[in-house]
Amino acid sequence: METVITRFAPSPTGYLHLGHAASAAQAFAFPAKHGGTCLLRIEDIDTTRCKPEYEQAIYEDLSWLGFSWPTPVRRQSDHFADYDKVLQNLRTQDLVYRCFKTRKEVLDDIARAPHEHGVAFIGASLPKAQETDLLGQEKPYAWRLSLEMCREILGKKFQNLYFSNNGKKTKARPDMLGDVILARKDVGTSYHIACCHDDAVQGVTDIIRGVDLLETTTIHRLLQEIMGWPVPHYQHHELLVDANGKRFAKRDQAKTLRAMRQSGAEPENILALCGPLG
Ligand code: GLU
Repeated sequence: METVITRFAPSPTGYLHLGHAASAAQAFAFPAKHGGTCLLRIEDIDTTRCKPEYEQAIYEDLSWLGFSWPTPVRRQSDHFADYDKVLQNLRTQDLVYRCFKTRKEVLDDIARAPHEHGVAFIGASLPKAQETDLLGQEKPYAWRLSLEMCREILGKKFQNLYFSNNGKKTKARPDMLGDVILARKDVGTSYHIACCHDDAVQGVTDIIRGVDLLETTTIHRLLQEIMGWPVPHYQHHELLVDANGKRFAKRDQAKTLRAMRQSGAEPENILALCGPLG
């Protein structure tokens, strides 16, 4: 039987809060039970929002909770060249196209998918002349995944992509999301590329994360198919909510693990609040 490898992959854009503790608790508990390891990965491709002090705090807060992980820890900002290779590979296959739209326009496209055309391929690349013109003006652009090309390349498989979610065979519906951005204007890559690439090279067998990322798994499943990466098992857990039913957020300073520790909480108190989640 393969050894279980999970990962906890926070972004150092703020201090960890109770929701993170709950997610970490699940990611660390699974290999502890089934024999394996939980990796810690720092997802810091967003070089303007991520801060070294938050990364340091991740190590301190997780250690304080009693978790440990193999070192060195993979830090995504050290691997931009690898993510660029993935993008180049997709470019050679025409699986991505340049997009000069604003973030808001792209989000509007994606919100319209798939309603406009059934299986919608919203976003569509620009006519060559227009693209050349915008490039000449040095307008910044992102790279978007072309679902149309994915369908062309994968044929029937495109409509038949599955993954295991909480033990249930689940169909991936990439058409629900439209042509997502795979390389942002500012950082030249995306969470999707960095995360799937790293899960593959790190041999992650089981991905345990919040249900807020379930839709995203659809895109990840498609990327795995295109890139020939292994398909891990997924578990998407419910999100921990506060007494008012609201999700914890990084901006809610009172519920950071740090603030709770400073006001006298012990690791056991935090872990008791964390689970079990569905
Ligand atoms: N870095 C992501 C976050 O902090 C987690 C990504 C994942 O678990 O796939 O939300």
